[in-house]
Amino acid sequence: MKITKLFAREILDSRGNPTVEVDCFVNGQRISRASVPSGASTGAYEAIELRDGGEKWNGRGVSVAVNNVNDKISSALIGLDLNLQNSQKEIDQILIDLDGTSNKSVLGANAMLGVSMACLKATAKLNNFSDWESISNLMGTKPSIPVPMMNILNGGAHAISDVDVQEFMVIPHGFENFTDALRAGTECYHSLKSELKKDGLMVGIGDEGGFAPNLPTNEHGLRYMVRAIEGAGYSTDQIGIGLDVAATEFFSEGKYEFDKKLISGSELMKIYGKWIDEYPILSVEDPFYEDDWFTWGLFTKHFGEKCQIVGDDLYVTQSERLLKGISNESSNSILIKPNQVGTVTETFESLKLAYDSDFSTVISHRSGETSDVIISDLAVGSGAGQIKTGAPARSDRTSKYNQLSRISEELNNYAKPFGR
Ligand code: PEP
Ligand code: MG
Repeated sequence: MKITKLFAREILDSRGNPTVEVDCFVNGQRISRASVPSGASTGAYEAIELRDGGEKWNGRGVSVAVNNVNDKISSALIGLDLNLQNSQKEIDQILIDLDGTSNKSVLGANAMLGVSMACLKATAKLNNFSDWESISNLMGTKPSIPVPMMNILNGGAHAISDVDVQEFMVIPHGFENFTDALRAGTECYHSLKSELKKDGLMVGIGDEGGFAPNLPTNEHGLRYMVRAIEGAGYSTDQIGIGLDVAATEFFSEGKYEFDKKLISGSELMKIYGKWIDEYPILSVEDPFYEDDWFTWGLFTKHFGEKCQIVGDDLYVTQSERLLKGISNESSNSILIKPNQVGTVTETFESLKLAYDSDFSTVISHRSGETSDVIISDLAVGSGAGQIKTGAPARSDRTSKYNQLSRISEELNNYAKPFGR
């Protein structure tokens, strides 16, 4: 069961940009395939996604990353055994050493993650495991079906609108099983469409499949979320609201530009405080920019008991930054995006560190996605508890929810509601 070939190509992602896809072969047979997603609101500390520059594809080609897989990485990994005990760690360490930088800028995190995930899937398949089972074995974790966080109203860098908050999500946590939760969240999506239509606000969708209207203020987004939940016949005790503010995107020179005004971190915190009091908000991601550790800590101190506070750009799935957040009590939750760190093993390490520190965890897609569903298997196998993977619309997003539906047939449990 040794790798005989790794082959990468450029494919298109959901935004029409090129991305890396990797095939892994054993004895001349293709055993697995993995493709790599790509962000728009990327954090400054993410591992480097190698792009070609130049004129083709508006500079977004990935032919250098593809060649890195087909030349340097292949040469280093051909002949390596794919066993359940230690091959994933060994492969990822070879990739890290071959790259030799702290931010994966030589090989590219996109090249490395494509290979790392293709090897993960190949090992599972050769050992007759599904991907989630294999992940659970590798991590030593108890599998569970995650609560979905479904982004039904898009703003920020994912939409052409004047809404600053990037994601308004429904969190259907008060249900017995995944099937009911997914249906309820999806009914809210349809209900939101009706509510927007009533007000003459149908303006297409954003990158993650949610509706993307222009709104007078960000708070109007929250009002529409409540209307969507109640309009679908649910109570806000069953379905809460999650926000990804993605505040790094509107921070500049010490101020946040929010609702067309320049305000400080503490003024922004006051707005969130009022929202948390008045709306059924369960989770807030990236409320402040990625280096504003002070305001993050203050916010967690005041609202961490009431609300999940999730670091995305703050931690970029990297255990070093997470360690700082744990010791400073900067948040109580971490978003996990494998391509922010670049290998499967390092993704597992950040998850385990979060578990050991009583941080909650949310597995996440990127705004530029492919049809690969590995994050659903990761969410189940790691027992992360939550997943966010966009609206229940467009197959780049629904493929992940559908994979969870399939797995939930095998694994008849459901992450316990984490409550308000
Ligand atoms: C996010 O910010 O959580 C997100 C999914 O967006 P992107 O992939 O653009 O970073
Ligand atoms: Mg985010």
